Order: sequence, then structure tokens, then C-alpha cells
Amino acid sequence: MATLDPDPAKLTCSFCGGTKPDLLCTRAALQVFRCKRCGIVHGETAKDDVGPAVPTDPSHFAFGVNNFPELVAENSNLLAKRMPMYRSMCKSDPKLWLEIGPGSGAYGEAISRFGGSWVGVEIDPDMARRAMELRQNVMEADFSGELPSKLLESNEVRANGGYDVVYFSQVLEHVTNPESLLKNVLAALRPGGTVHIDVPNHDGLTGMLRKLNWKSFGFGEIVPPHHMIAYNKKSLRALLQRTGFENIQPSTCAYSDDTFGLAHARLSQSSQLHRIWKLSRALRLGGNLLVLANKPN
Ligand SMILES: [Zn+2]
Repeated sequence: MATLDPDPAKLTCSFCGGTKPDLLCTRAALQVFRCKRCGIVHGETAKDDVGPAVPTDPSHFAFGVNNFPELVAENSNLLAKRMPMYRSMCKSDPKLWLEIGPGSGAYGEAISRFGGSWVGVEIDPDMARRAMELRQNVMEADFSGELPSKLLESNEVRANGGYDVVYFSQVLEHVTNPESLLKNVLAALRPGGTVHIDVPNHDGLTGMLRKLNWKSFGFGEIVPPHHMIAYNKKSLRALLQRTGFENIQPSTCAYSDDTFGLAHARLSQSSQLHRIWKLSRALRLGGNLLVLANKPN
């Protein structure tokens, strides 16, 4: 992250080196900047105010554990619809899957039921332990740095030339150095393999409402302390391009979308949230920003 500086003109983008970012807003101790060069939006707070970005909200983990069978069923529905797209991107049946930040591992369980071989790497020790208790093939490691070598050195991964698919959902916005994580993903994929990422859409309906609400401490999808980087189609594409991916296909959808939505959103009991998601679909301002891309052959 760029460091907080009283003069925004002196700020340098830690992603692309661009200088003099646009100051989008100042709210309480939060300043939000957009890099002129790469379009990345990042928030800066006074050091003692909210602390460093944390991996995720604990209530989200609890939901994953307490609703595991329902999440597996819902992820299986999503996966059945996504599978033709994965096959098309991979140009073969994807067999080897790596998930980064899998939470309880419900997506992995669904993949296993489709006959895939799946491993998850989880940064949160408590969540990793709980996923293992649910008998998921999860290892605990700090994926914001280098991926553990044992992930890349199993016989089946070596024989395949790497993973067919690397998947991470609602993770990249928590990582302070996304480019470093994406370089690791590129190294973990086989040539022609596919990455599937989703993050909150800074230009989506929920983000727009937060930009307009001056009482909100957050701005768009900058939500301290959880999300200090926000993406839109353009900046996410630029990030993947810089990292070396090709065939980059960003798109947006509602969180409740029946193909690329999020299982926990689709299971939400909140009629208010479902109304917002339906409206976001009608307005083409979906909150879920996803991207599919290939590692070059
Ligand atoms: Zn930049």
C-alpha cells in the first residue's frame, strides 16, 4: 500500500508506480485515492485508527461452518452451470483445482463431487482448522507471500504441469499486495490453465450507494478495515495484464446470480438484500466483479 502522506500529490501507487493519484474523498480519517495510470482505488487511514486490513469478517466464517451442507449443495448448482465455461477456458476437463482463501471449503467439496481433485490454502488459522474438521483438504499458509512449495510439488501437479484452475472468491480485495499473489497464481497454473477471481465491484450498486452516503465511513467498496483496495472491470483487467495473464474476461453480475453469484448470498434469508441484488441486475450494476483469464501456453 502507498503510505499516508499529508500531500496526496506525493503519493506513489504501489501497484504500478503511477504518481499524483486523484483524491476521490476524505471521510473522517479515511482518504480514498484512484491511480491515474492503472485505475486501482485504494484507501488510506491514519495508522492508529483502524489498523491494518484484516482477512475477513468472523461472522462470515461462522456462516460457512454452520451452513456447510447447504453451501455445498448451492455451490454444486453453481458449479454445474460454470463447468462448460471452465472446460472452454481450459480446453479440457479441469481435474486439478487450487482454491485460495476457501473458508470452510464448501466449493472444494462441490468440486470433489464433480470428480475434481481440490486443495485449499487458507490464511486464517482458525478457519483452516475448522475446514480440516469438516474433512476438507486445506492447508494453512500465508498466501499473501509465496505459496507453500508442497502445494506445487505433488506428483499429480507436477505431471499435469500445474493446476488446471486456480479459484479465489472475495479474497483479492483483502490482500495488500495483489500483484504478488497473482504472480504466485500464474506460477501455480499449468500453461493454458485458468484463473477465476471474484471481488466486490467498486462501480456496482452497493458501492454507488456507499459513495453517495456521506454518513458512511467507507467509500464505494473501500470498507475499512476489511477492504482497502477496490476494483472495477478496467483496473482488474489492467492488473491481470501486468501480471502476464491473457484472454482476460472481466464481467459483473448480481451477488444472487444463478451462475456466477455467491452461494452464501443465494442462501441469504434477507429479503431486503435480495431486493437490492435484483435491482442491481435490472440496472446492470451488479456488485460481483468476476474475471476469467488464462496463463499463456
Ligand atoms: Zn497504479
